[in-house]
Amino acid sequence: MATITNHMPTAELQALDAAHHLHPFSANNALGEEGTRVITRARGVWLNDSEGEEILDAMAGLWCVNIGYGRDELAEVAARQMRELPYYNTFFKTTHVPAIALAQKLAELAPGDLNHVFFAGGGSEANDTNIRMVRTYWQNKGQPEKTVIISRKNAYHGSTVASSALGGMAGMHAQSGLIPDVHHINQPNWWAEGGDMDPEEFGLARARELEEAILELGENRVAAFIAEPVQGAGGVIVAPDSYWPEIQRICDKYDILLIADEVICGFGRTGNWFGTQTMGIRPHIMTIAKGLSSGYAPIGGSIVCDEVAHVIGKDEFNHGYTYSGHPVAAAVALENLRILEEENILDHVRNVAAPYLKEKWEALTDHPLVGEAKIVGMMASIALTPNKASRAKFASEPGTIGYICRERCFANNLIMRHVGDRMIISPPLVITPAEIDEMFVRIRKSLDEAQAEIEKQGLM
Ligand code: PMP
Repeated sequence: MATITNHMPTAELQALDAAHHLHPFSANNALGEEGTRVITRARGVWLNDSEGEEILDAMAGLWCVNIGYGRDELAEVAARQMRELPYYNTFFKTTHVPAIALAQKLAELAPGDLNHVFFAGGGSEANDTNIRMVRTYWQNKGQPEKTVIISRKNAYHGSTVASSALGGMAGMHAQSGLIPDVHHINQPNWWAEGGDMDPEEFGLARARELEEAILELGENRVAAFIAEPVQGAGGVIVAPDSYWPEIQRICDKYDILLIADEVICGFGRTGNWFGTQTMGIRPHIMTIAKGLSSGYAPIGGSIVCDEVAHVIGKDEFNHGYTYSGHPVAAAVALENLRILEEENILDHVRNVAAPYLKEKWEALTDHPLVGEAKIVGMMASIALTPNKASRAKFASEPGTIGYICRERCFANNLIMRHVGDRMIISPPLVITPAEIDEMFVRIRKSLDEAQAEIEKQGLM
Protein backbone atom coordinates (compact mmCIF):
# COMPACT_ATOMS: atom_id res chain seq x y z
CA MET A 1 0.00 0.00 0.00
CA ALA A 2 1.20 3.54 -0.85
CA THR A 3 2.50 5.73 1.96
CA ILE A 4 -0.23 8.04 3.21
CA THR A 5 0.79 11.69 2.67
CA ASN A 6 -0.67 15.19 2.32
CA HIS A 7 -0.41 14.73 -1.44
CA MET A 8 -2.98 11.95 -1.67
CA PRO A 9 -6.38 12.90 -3.09
CA THR A 10 -8.72 14.17 -0.38
CA ALA A 11 -11.32 11.48 -1.07
CA GLU A 12 -8.78 8.71 -0.44
CA LEU A 13 -7.64 10.28 2.84
CA GLN A 14 -11.27 10.67 3.91
CA ALA A 15 -12.04 7.05 3.08
CA LEU A 16 -9.05 5.79 5.09
CA ASP A 17 -9.96 8.10 7.96
CA ALA A 18 -13.53 6.79 7.95
CA ALA A 19 -12.32 3.20 7.82
CA HIS A 20 -9.89 3.35 10.76
CA HIS A 21 -10.02 6.53 12.82
CA LEU A 22 -12.58 7.08 15.58
CA HIS A 23 -13.00 10.82 16.21
CA PRO A 24 -13.55 12.37 19.66
CA PHE A 25 -16.96 13.89 20.43
CA SER A 26 -18.36 12.72 17.08
CA ALA A 27 -21.06 10.40 15.76
CA ASN A 28 -18.51 8.43 13.78
CA ASN A 29 -20.81 6.53 11.43
CA ALA A 30 -22.43 9.71 10.14
CA LEU A 31 -19.10 11.51 10.10
CA GLY A 32 -17.56 8.77 7.99
CA GLU A 33 -20.32 9.16 5.41
CA GLU A 34 -20.14 12.95 5.39
CA GLY A 35 -16.33 13.05 5.18
CA THR A 36 -13.89 14.98 7.35
CA ARG A 37 -11.85 17.99 6.33
CA VAL A 38 -8.15 17.14 6.11
CA ILE A 39 -5.95 19.83 7.66
CA THR A 40 -2.47 19.76 6.16
CA ARG A 41 -0.47 22.71 7.49
CA ALA A 42 -0.75 25.86 9.54
CA ARG A 43 0.98 29.24 9.99
CA GLY A 44 0.05 32.01 12.42
CA VAL A 45 -3.75 31.98 12.65
CA TRP A 46 -4.22 30.22 9.31
CA LEU A 47 -4.86 26.56 8.52
CA ASN A 48 -4.62 24.90 5.10
CA ASP A 49 -6.68 21.91 4.06
CA SER A 50 -6.02 19.25 1.45
CA GLU A 51 -8.12 21.15 -1.10
CA GLY A 52 -5.82 24.16 -0.77
CA GLU A 53 -8.31 26.27 1.18
CA GLU A 54 -7.06 28.87 3.69
CA ILE A 55 -9.04 28.72 6.91
CA LEU A 56 -8.97 31.34 9.68
CA ASP A 57 -8.73 29.45 12.96
CA ALA A 58 -10.69 31.59 15.42
CA MET A 59 -10.52 28.75 18.01
CA ALA A 60 -6.69 28.37 18.18
CA GLY A 61 -7.18 24.65 17.63
CA LEU A 62 -8.94 23.60 20.82
CA TRP A 63 -8.29 26.91 22.65
CA CYS A 64 -4.62 26.07 22.84
CA VAL A 65 -2.39 27.51 20.11
CA ASN A 66 -1.78 30.75 21.99
CA ILE A 67 1.44 31.76 20.19
CA GLY A 68 0.05 30.78 16.77
CA TYR A 69 1.08 27.98 14.43
CA GLY A 70 4.41 27.45 12.75
CA ARG A 71 6.99 28.51 15.33
CA ASP A 72 10.12 26.65 14.32
CA GLU A 73 11.82 27.36 17.65
CA LEU A 74 9.58 24.80 19.31
CA ALA A 75 10.37 22.17 16.70
CA GLU A 76 14.07 22.79 17.20
CA VAL A 77 13.86 22.54 20.97
CA ALA A 78 11.88 19.29 20.66
CA ALA A 79 14.43 17.77 18.28
CA ARG A 80 17.34 18.82 20.50
CA GLN A 81 15.68 17.38 23.60
CA MET A 82 14.80 14.12 21.82
CA ARG A 83 18.43 13.66 20.86
CA GLU A 84 19.73 14.43 24.33
CA LEU A 85 17.18 12.77 26.59
CA PRO A 86 13.97 11.68 24.83
CA TYR A 87 12.43 10.19 27.94
CA TYR A 88 13.01 9.66 31.56
CA ASN A 89 10.58 9.49 34.46
CA THR A 90 10.68 11.33 37.77
CA PHE A 91 9.17 8.60 39.95
CA PHE A 92 12.05 6.87 41.69
CA LYS A 93 14.45 9.48 43.11
CA THR A 94 15.33 10.90 39.68
CA THR A 95 14.65 14.16 37.90
CA HIS A 96 15.78 16.00 34.77
CA VAL A 97 16.48 19.54 33.65
CA PRO A 98 13.36 20.21 31.51
CA ALA A 99 11.04 19.29 34.43
CA ILE A 100 13.09 21.32 36.92
CA ALA A 101 13.25 24.35 34.64
CA LEU A 102 9.56 24.28 33.72
CA ALA A 103 8.43 23.83 37.34
CA GLN A 104 10.66 26.73 38.42
CA LYS A 105 9.31 28.96 35.63
CA LEU A 106 5.70 28.15 36.47
CA ALA A 107 6.33 28.92 40.14
CA GLU A 108 7.70 32.30 39.06
CA LEU A 109 4.71 33.09 36.82
CA ALA A 110 1.97 31.81 39.11
CA PRO A 111 0.53 34.25 41.67
CA GLY A 112 0.95 34.09 45.45
CA ASP A 113 2.57 31.00 46.91
CA LEU A 114 1.57 28.66 44.09
CA ASN A 115 5.11 27.33 43.95
CA HIS A 116 4.87 23.59 43.25
CA VAL A 117 3.94 21.70 40.10
CA PHE A 118 2.68 18.15 39.57
CA PHE A 119 2.85 17.34 35.85
CA ALA A 120 0.33 15.43 33.75
CA GLY A 121 -0.25 14.70 30.08
CA GLY A 122 -3.12 17.19 29.72
CA GLY A 123 -5.98 18.89 31.53
CA SER A 124 -8.10 15.79 32.21
CA GLU A 125 -5.24 13.97 33.88
CA ALA A 126 -4.39 17.07 35.87
CA ASN A 127 -7.93 17.27 37.22
CA ASP A 128 -7.78 13.58 38.12
CA THR A 129 -4.61 14.48 40.03
CA ASN A 130 -6.53 17.24 41.79
CA ILE A 131 -9.26 14.89 42.98
CA ARG A 132 -6.73 12.56 44.57
CA MET A 133 -4.63 15.45 45.83
CA VAL A 134 -7.36 17.31 47.71
CA ARG A 135 -8.62 14.09 49.30
CA THR A 136 -5.07 13.16 50.30
CA TYR A 137 -4.57 16.67 51.68
CA TRP A 138 -7.53 16.36 54.06
CA GLN A 139 -6.58 12.78 55.02
CA ASN A 140 -3.08 13.93 55.91
CA LYS A 141 -4.55 16.76 57.97
CA GLY A 142 -6.58 14.24 59.97
CA GLN A 143 -9.93 15.13 58.39
CA PRO A 144 -10.54 12.15 56.08
CA GLU A 145 -14.29 12.80 56.03
CA LYS A 146 -13.65 15.90 53.90
CA THR A 147 -14.05 14.22 50.49
CA VAL A 148 -16.77 16.12 48.64
CA ILE A 149 -15.77 18.33 45.72
CA ILE A 150 -18.31 20.91 44.62
CA SER A 151 -18.36 21.82 40.95
CA ARG A 152 -20.79 23.48 38.56
CA LYS A 153 -23.31 22.30 35.99
CA ASN A 154 -22.10 22.85 32.43
CA ALA A 155 -18.46 22.99 33.59
CA TYR A 156 -15.85 21.13 31.54
CA HIS A 157 -12.99 19.59 33.47
CA GLY A 158 -11.93 16.80 31.10
CA SER A 159 -12.91 13.57 29.47
CA THR A 160 -11.55 10.82 31.74
CA VAL A 161 -14.22 9.17 33.87
CA ALA A 162 -13.24 11.09 37.00
CA SER A 163 -12.65 14.49 35.39
CA SER A 164 -15.89 14.26 33.40
CA ALA A 165 -17.74 13.39 36.62
CA LEU A 166 -16.15 16.50 38.12
CA GLY A 167 -17.37 18.45 35.10
CA GLY A 168 -21.02 19.23 34.68
CA MET A 169 -21.77 17.98 31.17
CA ALA A 170 -24.96 15.90 31.34
CA GLY A 171 -24.21 14.09 28.06
CA MET A 172 -20.92 12.80 29.44
CA HIS A 173 -22.48 11.76 32.75
CA ALA A 174 -25.11 9.83 30.77
CA GLN A 175 -22.41 7.71 29.12
CA SER A 176 -20.16 6.89 32.06
CA GLY A 177 -21.92 7.96 35.24
CA LEU A 178 -20.64 9.96 38.16
CA ILE A 179 -18.09 9.18 40.87
CA PRO A 180 -18.84 9.37 44.60
CA ASP A 181 -18.70 12.65 46.47
CA VAL A 182 -18.98 15.14 43.64
CA HIS A 183 -21.78 17.70 43.88
CA HIS A 184 -22.85 20.22 41.21
CA ILE A 185 -24.33 23.67 41.74
CA ASN A 186 -25.78 25.95 39.05
CA GLN A 187 -23.64 28.06 36.71
CA PRO A 188 -23.67 31.88 36.62
CA ASN A 189 -25.20 32.08 33.12
CA TRP A 190 -27.39 35.17 33.39
CA TRP A 191 -28.52 35.24 29.75
CA ALA A 192 -30.03 31.76 29.83
CA GLU A 193 -30.97 31.36 33.48
CA GLY A 194 -31.16 34.82 35.05
CA GLY A 195 -34.94 35.16 34.76
CA ASP A 196 -36.13 38.55 36.06
CA MET A 197 -33.08 39.21 38.24
CA ASP A 198 -30.53 41.80 37.21
CA PRO A 199 -27.12 40.32 36.42
CA GLU A 200 -25.42 41.34 39.69
CA GLU A 201 -28.26 40.08 41.85
CA PHE A 202 -28.21 36.84 39.88
CA GLY A 203 -24.39 36.52 40.22
CA LEU A 204 -24.70 36.79 44.01
CA ALA A 205 -27.55 34.27 44.11
CA ARG A 206 -25.55 31.75 42.09
CA ALA A 207 -22.43 32.22 44.25
CA ARG A 208 -24.52 31.70 47.38
CA GLU A 209 -25.54 28.29 46.05
CA LEU A 210 -22.00 27.28 47.06
CA GLU A 211 -22.67 28.29 50.66
CA GLU A 212 -26.05 26.55 50.62
CA ALA A 213 -24.43 23.36 49.30
CA ILE A 214 -21.70 23.46 51.97
CA LEU A 215 -24.28 23.85 54.72
CA GLU A 216 -26.47 21.11 53.29
CA LEU A 217 -23.64 18.62 52.71
CA GLY A 218 -21.91 19.52 55.99
CA GLU A 219 -18.95 21.84 56.38
CA ASN A 220 -16.94 18.93 57.75
CA ARG A 221 -17.42 16.97 54.51
CA VAL A 222 -16.55 19.51 51.82
CA ALA A 223 -12.98 19.32 50.54
CA ALA A 224 -12.89 21.74 47.63
CA PHE A 225 -14.68 23.85 45.05
CA ILE A 226 -13.53 23.71 41.43
CA ALA A 227 -14.38 26.18 38.67
CA GLU A 228 -13.08 27.69 35.46
CA PRO A 229 -12.53 31.46 35.85
CA VAL A 230 -14.53 31.78 32.62
CA GLN A 231 -16.50 28.69 31.63
CA GLY A 232 -15.04 27.76 28.24
CA ALA A 233 -16.54 24.66 26.64
CA GLY A 234 -19.80 25.50 28.42
CA GLY A 235 -20.12 28.42 26.00
CA VAL A 236 -17.73 31.15 27.23
CA ILE A 237 -19.99 31.98 30.15
CA VAL A 238 -18.68 35.07 31.95
CA ALA A 239 -19.97 35.43 35.50
CA PRO A 240 -21.46 38.78 36.59
CA ASP A 241 -18.97 40.94 38.57
CA SER A 242 -20.66 40.08 41.87
CA TYR A 243 -19.94 36.35 41.52
CA TRP A 244 -16.23 35.76 42.18
CA PRO A 245 -15.79 37.98 45.28
CA GLU A 246 -18.66 36.10 46.91
CA ILE A 247 -17.20 32.71 45.94
CA GLN A 248 -13.87 33.77 47.46
CA ARG A 249 -15.59 34.90 50.67
CA ILE A 250 -17.38 31.56 51.00
CA CYS A 251 -14.25 29.46 50.33
CA ASP A 252 -12.36 31.48 52.96
CA LYS A 253 -15.15 31.29 55.52
CA TYR A 254 -15.60 27.51 55.34
CA ASP A 255 -11.92 26.65 54.86
CA ILE A 256 -12.32 24.72 51.62
CA LEU A 257 -9.73 24.47 48.90
CA LEU A 258 -10.36 26.54 45.79
CA ILE A 259 -9.27 24.88 42.54
CA ALA A 260 -9.18 27.15 39.49
CA ASP A 261 -9.26 25.21 36.26
CA GLU A 262 -7.01 27.41 34.11
CA VAL A 263 -6.73 24.97 31.22
CA ILE A 264 -8.31 27.50 28.84
CA CYS A 265 -7.91 30.75 30.81
CA GLY A 266 -4.20 30.32 31.55
CA PHE A 267 -1.21 31.67 29.65
CA GLY A 268 -2.59 34.97 28.43
CA ARG A 269 -6.07 34.06 27.21
CA THR A 270 -7.80 36.57 29.51
CA GLY A 271 -5.06 39.24 29.25
CA ASN A 272 -3.15 38.10 32.34
CA TRP A 273 -0.99 35.05 32.85
CA PHE A 274 -3.91 33.41 34.65
CA GLY A 275 -7.69 33.90 34.66
CA THR A 276 -7.71 34.01 38.45
CA GLN A 277 -5.72 37.26 38.23
CA THR A 278 -8.33 38.71 35.89
CA MET A 279 -11.14 37.62 38.23
CA GLY A 280 -9.30 38.62 41.43
CA ILE A 281 -9.39 35.23 43.15
CA ARG A 282 -6.81 33.31 45.17
CA PRO A 283 -6.80 29.58 44.36
CA HIS A 284 -4.93 26.88 46.28
CA ILE A 285 -4.54 24.80 43.11
CA MET A 286 -4.59 25.71 39.43
CA THR A 287 -5.12 23.17 36.64
CA ILE A 288 -3.03 23.99 33.57
CA ALA A 289 -2.61 22.54 30.04
CA LYS A 290 -3.32 23.79 26.49
CA GLY A 291 -1.59 27.23 26.31
CA LEU A 292 1.21 25.87 28.52
CA SER A 293 2.77 24.45 25.35
CA SER A 294 0.49 26.27 22.89
CA GLY A 295 -0.59 22.76 21.91
CA TYR A 296 2.79 21.92 20.34
CA ALA A 297 3.24 19.04 22.80
CA PRO A 298 0.77 17.32 25.14
CA ILE A 299 1.40 18.52 28.69
CA GLY A 300 -0.65 19.68 31.66
CA GLY A 301 -0.35 19.89 35.39
CA SER A 302 -1.47 21.20 38.75
CA ILE A 303 0.24 24.20 40.33
CA VAL A 304 -0.27 24.02 44.08
CA CYS A 305 0.35 26.33 47.00
CA ASP A 306 3.00 25.83 49.70
CA GLU A 307 0.51 24.51 52.26
CA VAL A 308 -1.02 21.87 49.97
CA ALA A 309 2.41 20.75 48.74
CA HIS A 310 3.69 20.51 52.30
CA VAL A 311 0.73 18.50 53.58
CA ILE A 312 0.53 16.01 50.70
CA GLY A 313 4.30 15.64 50.95
CA LYS A 314 4.06 14.17 54.46
CA ASP A 315 3.51 10.69 53.08
CA GLU A 316 3.75 8.87 49.78
CA PHE A 317 1.35 10.36 47.23
CA ASN A 318 0.20 7.31 45.27
CA HIS A 319 -0.16 9.03 41.96
CA GLY A 320 1.71 9.69 38.71
CA TYR A 321 1.69 9.21 34.96
CA THR A 322 4.35 7.69 32.70
CA TYR A 323 4.49 11.04 30.95
CA SER A 324 4.41 13.30 34.04
CA GLY A 325 6.98 15.98 33.23
CA HIS A 326 7.90 14.36 29.89
CA PRO A 327 11.24 15.97 28.97
CA VAL A 328 10.34 16.79 25.35
CA ALA A 329 6.94 18.24 26.27
CA ALA A 330 8.49 20.18 29.18
CA ALA A 331 11.24 21.62 26.96
CA VAL A 332 8.64 22.66 24.36
CA ALA A 333 6.46 24.27 27.05
CA LEU A 334 9.43 26.19 28.41
CA GLU A 335 10.25 27.53 24.94
CA ASN A 336 6.59 28.50 24.48
CA LEU A 337 6.68 30.45 27.77
CA ARG A 338 9.90 32.15 26.66
CA ILE A 339 8.20 33.30 23.44
CA LEU A 340 5.08 34.49 25.30
CA GLU A 341 7.29 36.48 27.66
CA GLU A 342 10.06 37.81 25.41
CA GLU A 343 7.73 38.79 22.59
CA ASN A 344 5.44 40.59 25.05
CA ILE A 345 2.44 38.69 23.76
CA LEU A 346 0.40 39.55 26.86
CA ASP A 347 1.00 43.25 26.13
CA HIS A 348 -0.20 42.65 22.58
CA VAL A 349 -3.34 41.05 24.01
CA ARG A 350 -3.96 43.82 26.55
CA ASN A 351 -3.10 46.84 24.42
CA VAL A 352 -3.88 45.80 20.87
CA ALA A 353 -5.77 42.61 20.14
CA ALA A 354 -8.26 42.36 23.01
CA PRO A 355 -9.49 46.01 22.95
CA TYR A 356 -9.89 45.87 19.16
CA LEU A 357 -11.67 42.52 19.33
CA LYS A 358 -13.95 43.73 22.13
CA GLU A 359 -15.11 46.78 20.21
CA LYS A 360 -16.00 44.73 17.16
CA TRP A 361 -17.40 41.81 19.14
CA GLU A 362 -19.80 43.91 21.20
CA ALA A 363 -20.99 45.63 18.00
CA LEU A 364 -22.27 42.24 16.81
CA THR A 365 -25.37 42.85 18.94
CA ASP A 366 -26.57 45.02 16.05
CA HIS A 367 -27.20 41.78 14.13
CA PRO A 368 -30.81 40.55 14.30
CA LEU A 369 -29.75 37.07 15.53
CA VAL A 370 -27.39 38.22 18.29
CA GLY A 371 -28.58 38.75 21.87
CA GLU A 372 -25.77 39.21 24.37
CA ALA A 373 -22.09 39.45 23.37
CA LYS A 374 -19.62 38.52 26.15
CA ILE A 375 -15.85 38.84 26.02
CA VAL A 376 -12.90 38.55 28.39
CA GLY A 377 -9.50 39.08 26.79
CA MET A 378 -9.32 36.74 23.82
CA MET A 379 -12.30 34.50 24.55
CA ALA A 380 -15.77 35.54 23.52
CA SER A 381 -19.32 34.35 22.94
CA ILE A 382 -22.58 35.53 21.43
CA ALA A 383 -26.01 34.17 22.28
CA LEU A 384 -28.27 33.62 19.27
CA THR A 385 -31.89 34.47 19.93
CA PRO A 386 -35.19 34.99 18.11
CA ASN A 387 -36.01 37.88 20.51
CA LYS A 388 -33.33 39.99 22.23
CA ALA A 389 -35.67 41.85 24.57
CA SER A 390 -37.09 38.72 26.18
CA ARG A 391 -33.82 36.72 25.87
CA ALA A 392 -35.96 34.05 24.18
CA LYS A 393 -34.67 30.63 23.20
CA PHE A 394 -35.42 29.16 19.80
CA ALA A 395 -38.26 26.64 19.68
CA SER A 396 -36.04 24.14 17.86
CA GLU A 397 -33.95 21.52 19.69
CA PRO A 398 -31.14 23.46 21.52
CA GLY A 399 -28.07 23.59 19.28
CA THR A 400 -29.98 23.44 15.98
CA ILE A 401 -29.48 27.14 15.25
CA GLY A 402 -25.91 27.16 16.54
CA TYR A 403 -25.09 24.21 14.30
CA ILE A 404 -26.54 25.95 11.23
CA CYS A 405 -24.41 28.98 12.02
CA ARG A 406 -21.29 26.88 12.58
CA GLU A 407 -21.80 25.14 9.24
CA ARG A 408 -21.97 28.54 7.52
CA CYS A 409 -18.71 29.56 9.25
CA PHE A 410 -17.07 26.33 8.14
CA ALA A 411 -18.20 26.89 4.56
CA ASN A 412 -16.76 30.42 4.75
CA ASN A 413 -13.38 29.10 5.92
CA LEU A 414 -13.75 30.33 9.47
CA ILE A 415 -13.38 28.02 12.47
CA MET A 416 -15.88 29.19 15.05
CA ARG A 417 -17.56 26.76 17.44
CA HIS A 418 -21.14 26.51 18.64
CA VAL A 419 -22.20 25.43 22.12
CA GLY A 420 -25.93 24.96 21.98
CA ASP A 421 -27.15 28.18 20.39
CA ARG A 422 -24.11 30.23 21.48
CA MET A 423 -21.23 30.90 19.09
CA ILE A 424 -17.75 31.14 20.55
CA ILE A 425 -14.21 32.15 19.58
CA SER A 426 -10.79 31.90 21.19
CA PRO A 427 -8.26 32.90 18.52
CA PRO A 428 -4.46 32.67 18.77
CA LEU A 429 -3.26 35.54 20.99
CA VAL A 430 -0.96 36.81 18.23
CA ILE A 431 -3.83 37.66 15.87
CA THR A 432 -3.35 41.10 14.24
CA PRO A 433 -5.98 43.84 13.78
CA ALA A 434 -6.00 43.14 10.02
CA GLU A 435 -6.71 39.47 10.71
CA ILE A 436 -9.43 40.47 13.18
CA ASP A 437 -10.98 42.58 10.40
CA GLU A 438 -10.93 39.57 8.08
CA MET A 439 -12.44 37.41 10.82
CA PHE A 440 -15.37 39.83 11.19
CA VAL A 441 -16.01 39.86 7.44
CA ARG A 442 -16.44 36.09 7.69
CA ILE A 443 -18.41 36.18 10.95
CA ARG A 444 -20.94 38.70 9.60
CA LYS A 445 -21.29 36.86 6.30
CA SER A 446 -21.87 33.60 8.18
CA LEU A 447 -24.44 35.20 10.51
CA ASP A 448 -26.33 36.66 7.54
CA GLU A 449 -26.33 33.32 5.75
CA ALA A 450 -27.39 31.52 8.92
CA GLN A 451 -30.28 33.94 9.34
CA ALA A 452 -31.42 33.36 5.75
CA GLU A 453 -31.22 29.59 6.28
CA ILE A 454 -33.13 29.75 9.57
CA GLU A 455 -35.86 31.84 7.96
CA LYS A 456 -36.02 29.49 4.98
CA GLN A 457 -36.47 26.54 7.31
CA GLY A 458 -39.11 28.43 9.30
CA LEU A 459 -37.07 28.26 12.53
CA MET A 460 -37.24 31.97 13.50
N1 PMP B 1 -10.38 21.71 31.81
C1 PMP B 1 -10.84 22.63 30.95
C2 PMP B 1 -11.35 23.94 31.48
C3 PMP B 1 -10.83 22.37 29.58
O1 PMP B 1 -11.32 23.27 28.73
C4 PMP B 1 -10.31 21.14 29.12
C5 PMP B 1 -10.25 20.80 27.65
N2 PMP B 1 -11.09 21.47 26.80
C6 PMP B 1 -9.86 20.21 30.07
C7 PMP B 1 -9.89 20.54 31.41
C8 PMP B 1 -9.33 18.88 29.65
O2 PMP B 1 -8.09 19.00 29.09
P1 PMP B 1 -7.50 17.87 28.12
O3 PMP B 1 -8.40 17.79 26.94
O4 PMP B 1 -6.11 18.36 27.84
O5 PMP B 1 -7.47 16.60 28.88
